[in-house]
Amino acid sequence: MPVKGVVFCLEDGLPIEARFLLEDFRLAVNNAIRAGLQARVTSRNALTRLAYKDFRKEYPKMYAQHLVSAFEVAGSALKNHRRRVRKGNAGRVPYIRRLFMKAENQAYKLDRANGVIDLPIRAGCHVCLELVLSDYQRRYLEDHSYALGSLTVFTDRVIIAFRKGAPKPYVPESALSLDTNERSLDGVFAKGGDVKTVKAEFSDIATIQQRHHDRRKRLQKKKAHDRRTSRMLCRREGRREHHRIEYRLHQLANAVLSFAENQKSAIVLEDLKGFKPIRNKELNRRLSLWPRRKLHQIIEYKAQWRGVPVVKVDPRYSSRTCPICGRIQDSRMGAEFVCECGWHLDRHINASLNLLQTAISKGMAGGLRFNPGAFQHDVMMILYDPERGARSEPNGTSGTCVVT
Ligand SMILES: [Zn+2]
Repeated sequence: MPVKGVVFCLEDGLPIEARFLLEDFRLAVNNAIRAGLQARVTSRNALTRLAYKDFRKEYPKMYAQHLVSAFEVAGSALKNHRRRVRKGNAGRVPYIRRLFMKAENQAYKLDRANGVIDLPIRAGCHVCLELVLSDYQRRYLEDHSYALGSLTVFTDRVIIAFRKGAPKPYVPESALSLDTNERSLDGVFAKGGDVKTVKAEFSDIATIQQRHHDRRKRLQKKKAHDRRTSRMLCRREGRREHHRIEYRLHQLANAVLSFAENQKSAIVLEDLKGFKPIRNKELNRRLSLWPRRKLHQIIEYKAQWRGVPVVKVDPRYSSRTCPICGRIQDSRMGAEFVCECGWHLDRHINASLNLLQTAISKGMAGGLRFNPGAFQHDVMMILYDPERGARSEPNGTSGTCVVT
């Protein structure tokens, strides 16, 4: 069941009682982490069995559901810690600094008409959180096909998870095959024997990465005498970079999905799982992998939410194979793929053709057929362009397609 977290700001900030609750919650989480480490348990149930009684004595007034939820947060922190230990890069023992709390849907009440949360603190004491509502948030509150999930409270905002039964993906009538590159998605759109090239640019993301990288370098030099400040500033720089890139990736994914939805397309993507980050100092290589992975994640998740079928294909040889005669070239070539049989095409577009063919041959794209001979080189459809995307509204979908 896909889940979507929607952020709400608070009308009058966080009431003081709720702030105390967050502090208690943090304390409970950190205590549970310590108890879990000592007893070597990570699951919520094990933690509950282990520590519930003791905790009850320490926090006699805390609402029981919140305590269980604190165990759950502690459990996931312990799991992450254990994974890091296994990989050999264990840091410090996990400790939650941030003030926040999580409540499952039984542990709070939401008045969906007025946007008011009723959060119990202890027996006989509730606190009301008034949410700031815009059209975007109202859409989720008013549509009762969205079930309420967990609530996460921070000092300045809350996040409510909405759940929806996943719509059944439609039967594709066309396919949108995309090869993921460092600065763009390049590919083909195949419908009824017609094949056109498509492109969705995200070169602005590389620019942002470069800029933040330079800034971090400068900061490190400038604050070389003060490692603590340097680390803090760099971390902030990293967070900003993350937000800016993620925002753009969402815009891009929305554009691709709207196009696919309108055309009833299956989206074909390469499976990036096998990709290993290349460890070298060269900036582009090192930095550019996570946005691409993240983009795939966003596309897949949004596709699930909207009922768009997505097919993942093993990308091996996709950039070296000739889609006409099937010959595999020895090495990667320049910008253009050239084959002895006379076929030549932009390398990225060629790769996407191969992805599409693999998807079709495995029966993963419905009953679609496709003939590389019918390929129209001269028509390029722009699915997304950062210039236009950046100017559109935060929640607007820039899904219009322009045929140039
Ligand atoms: Zn060939």
